[in-house]
Amino acid sequence: MVTRPARLTPPVQCVPLHDPESRLEGVIVIHSTALGPGAGGCRFWSYPDMDRAQADALRLAEGMSYKNALAGLPLGGAKAVLRRPEGDFDRSRLFQAFGRAVAELRGAYVTAEDVGTTVTDMQDIARATRHVAGLPARTGRAGGDPSPWTAQGVFESMHQAAEIVLGRDLGELTVAVQGVGNVGADLCRRLAEAGARLIVADVDPQRCESLRVQYGATVLPVNAIVEAEADVFAPCALGGVLNDHSAGRIAARIVCGAANNQLAQPEMAETLRRRGITYVPDYGVNAGGIISVSAEYLGEGTDEVARRVAAIAPRVGALLERAAHEKRSPAAVADDLAEEVIASAQRPATAA
Ligand code: NAD
Repeated sequence: MVTRPARLTPPVQCVPLHDPESRLEGVIVIHSTALGPGAGGCRFWSYPDMDRAQADALRLAEGMSYKNALAGLPLGGAKAVLRRPEGDFDRSRLFQAFGRAVAELRGAYVTAEDVGTTVTDMQDIARATRHVAGLPARTGRAGGDPSPWTAQGVFESMHQAAEIVLGRDLGELTVAVQGVGNVGADLCRRLAEAGARLIVADVDPQRCESLRVQYGATVLPVNAIVEAEADVFAPCALGGVLNDHSAGRIAARIVCGAANNQLAQPEMAETLRRRGITYVPDYGVNAGGIISVSAEYLGEGTDEVARRVAAIAPRVGALLERAAHEKRSPAAVADDLAEEVIASAQRPATAA
């Protein structure tokens, strides 16, 4: 019998960040350290207030515990969320102040890029702490922008899902991609090279335009992408996109994308299943980035990253087969698997 520790356990640590001089304001949430130091990126976003920033950090940190466990990484789950100041601010100074806050945690939290942060930001953080990854890679060593690894894991998982769910090759299908930033654009490139037709939407029209020119992608308004006539819907923007409002509008048979926390509520996974839509769990498919971050932090090479990223799609395939067999949502099955891993690390070793 597996206990369900992670979702029921309050965050191990919730560290408020407040430095008026640099205008740093935010929070670090360390959700679980059962498997190792809490690891998860640093999000830099315009939150209207601290309550919303904190709520996002809590959800994201929990998601990292599950993602890291399912990917078999020696890491717990954590996340930092920083409010983007209004008006002028010194970005380098702000991230150095964040680095000092990370340093004070003495390795309990390892940070990296997330939405709104860059390799340069990580370099600023690294001036204050060594508990940061996503720094420029040295030859043969893991490091640098983790987005291509994330895109690879999503692409290969999508391929697997298309074969299992639709019995078709991805190259014959139409994929609607919501958000064509670092991961979404790389995913589009891979899909176009595989022969898939693309439909894209982004709040930044320039990003869509370049995909239209390069790959003949059809561009839709942001509010129309969910109901696009596509075989696969790939959320690659922000979380919460699978909600009461969108669930009845999704035309695709498969949802498989990079965005973290796609389900607005966990029950949405079952709603989609009942509608005949296979939701491929976000944290199962988008682990490529944290795999790269983990390898960099542990001083491993890119060959280790490649090996672990290649294991994502077969794991997703097994998960989809099991979910179909048990008539449950793949998300529920993934949660069980991740919780088993966390629970086994938390269980005290029995005496020999
Ligand atoms: P990004 O900021 O580079 O790209 C996000 C894109 O989404 C941007 O182009 C933005 O303009 C667009 N966008 C924002 N709101 C939108 C909306 N309502 N509709 C359409 N487009 C919208 O971020 P990214 O690194 O590509 O990450 C994308 C998602 O994948 C995020 O949820 C992130 O947490 C998740 N993720 C990323 C990685 C990684 O390695 N970068 C790893 C795991 C998960």
